[in-house]
Amino acid sequence: MMLGPTLLVLVSFLFMACSACPTPDFYADFFLDTTTNSTTNSTTNSTNILGSRSYGVPNQRGQGVDLGPWPITVVDPDNGDEAYIYYCYVDEWAVNNFPPLFDSAFERWYPALIQSALRFVPDPECGSDHKCACSVNSRPDTLRISSEDGGSHASVGYQYGSNRAGRHYMRISGYKLGDPDNRVLKVAEAVHELGHVIGLEHEHQRPDRDEDIDFHCEALIGFDEAEAKVKAAITAVRDGQPTLHPIPECTDPAEARACMINIVCPRPGYAGYYLEIAMPFILGNWFDDRVPFEAKADYVDWVSIMIYSSYTSATRNGGFPIGATMEGKSKYEGEPNFQIFPGGDRIMDKRKISQGDIDNVVRLYPKGIVEFPGSDGCDTAEFYDYRGGCDGVI
Ligand SMILES: [Zn+2]
Repeated sequence: MMLGPTLLVLVSFLFMACSACPTPDFYADFFLDTTTNSTTNSTTNSTNILGSRSYGVPNQRGQGVDLGPWPITVVDPDNGDEAYIYYCYVDEWAVNNFPPLFDSAFERWYPALIQSALRFVPDPECGSDHKCACSVNSRPDTLRISSEDGGSHASVGYQYGSNRAGRHYMRISGYKLGDPDNRVLKVAEAVHELGHVIGLEHEHQRPDRDEDIDFHCEALIGFDEAEAKVKAAITAVRDGQPTLHPIPECTDPAEARACMINIVCPRPGYAGYYLEIAMPFILGNWFDDRVPFEAKADYVDWVSIMIYSSYTSATRNGGFPIGATMEGKSKYEGEPNFQIFPGGDRIMDKRKISQGDIDNVVRLYPKGIVEFPGSDGCDTAEFYDYRGGCDGVI
């Protein structure tokens, strides 16, 4: 989808709508993720060294709140409160094919669910049926899940300032039935997008990201073409010619590459026009929006499910670190930088939500009484089916 420059800038205020098309690398190590993002004015609380880490929506609910975690649906001081993320499937294809995929994705969040008030629940119109089709009777705030082309997307957190149906949505694109590798990829994408729906943001967009990650904009797909356009724009301004999107900070066409890296890549107003694929790498504090996101703990969670891999949106993978878009910075002097794998594993099927992701969910969805694995007769969380049994379906 191509957006006009004016519209794009407007859209970027509320939603970071990108259409990243990462190149599959050797490990198929990428997300076709282009997340909606309502960031701006992010606050960093690095004094909270021992606090649970987080980067996501402000931890606030109720009247006067614009964006926050999902509301508490069930208040039960004896057994613990519950916050339901109601969901339904929009299109017929999704209704028929997505439920098993999403049941797998919901289960990946289970280690966080058992320690928190968070639950994934079909829209009330569907009762307990996981094959839940959206209808005119669905709740306005129910998460609408659809299958569409153009990259996977999701809304972030719960929008309290609106009652518009469909404002909470997720789309998963490119799911191919009968292709096991594709299914693994799509489950991983759905797990990541659910993180956004819960209210979590990209770890690599934390305002303090640069302390922990080296970002290489020049490794992104389309960088060279964007550099040529930037050079043409700088030249046009220098020669007194009209140009659609001038960059006043840059005056020397010979310095177009430096202009790309230092001015265009880090700023939504320029990146959205010249190199849209850079948008989901931009620090959250550059997005002009009403909602301050919160970032706590001292460093980036390199194994979060909410971080991109070292080769997301990379032009090529020449073996780490060659061609990497992001490198994890070692905390030890003399140690080399390391490759980043969301979910902490090179193998996509083994990727899990991290302890940091769990902490973040618990922070946003606390419950009074914590149900430990085993309290219902199941041996471990891994073999607990959150739908109410110990059948080991994971
Ligand atoms: Zn994302």
